Amino acid sequence: MDYILFGIQGAGKGTQAKFLAQQTGAQYFETGGELRRLSSEDSPLGKKIKSIIEAGHLVPNEVVMEIVANFVTMTVSKNSDSCSIIFDGIPRNMEQSDTFVALLNQYNRNFTGLYFELSREAAENRLLKRRICKSCKTVYPSMYTNIVCEKCNGELITRADDNAESIKTRIEIFYKETVPVVEKWRGLDKMISINADQSIEAVTEEMKRKI
Ligand SMILES: [Zn+2]
Repeated sequence: MDYILFGIQGAGKGTQAKFLAQQTGAQYFETGGELRRLSSEDSPLGKKIKSIIEAGHLVPNEVVMEIVANFVTMTVSKNSDSCSIIFDGIPRNMEQSDTFVALLNQYNRNFTGLYFELSREAAENRLLKRRICKSCKTVYPSMYTNIVCEKCNGELITRADDNAESIKTRIEIFYKETVPVVEKWRGLDKMISINADQSIEAVTEEMKRKI
């Protein structure tokens, strides 16, 4: 089974993805990380991505789908057809959803969405309180109360883009573009909802129980 993670920023899906990967032995696909990895590779796809990024352009949908296809092929050839994949950060909108679902069907993948549900207000509060390590850039959720980074003892500061205005914009985009995808998948019986407005441990427990 492949798991496609949905959730507003601040819902903690990145943290849960790591638990899920440990528990199921799944491979983890995160769009940003995969883009960075491929762009440093000396392959035709890597060169294409590198030139798009260097030109300062957004990576177009068809290239993102090429990256997903590349990842699925690689995972299946290295492991087996039964190896699960966790997708994080894709699909973000209806257009991506349609091509993404077509691609998974083409590869005969069994899949379900996992929606880490958090209210607008709770997401805003968490993002406003989120901090980042000045030295190693590790992001700490609002629940983390230490004043220094647990990895390098660096100073924890608020991210420049975590101000009220940009947080509101990001949340608006999520509701406008991604929530319709969640609703559509729900209608297709391809979506499991998890209450993300509880402690990290409680979210993990609920996820384990429902998958
Ligand atoms: Zn640090």
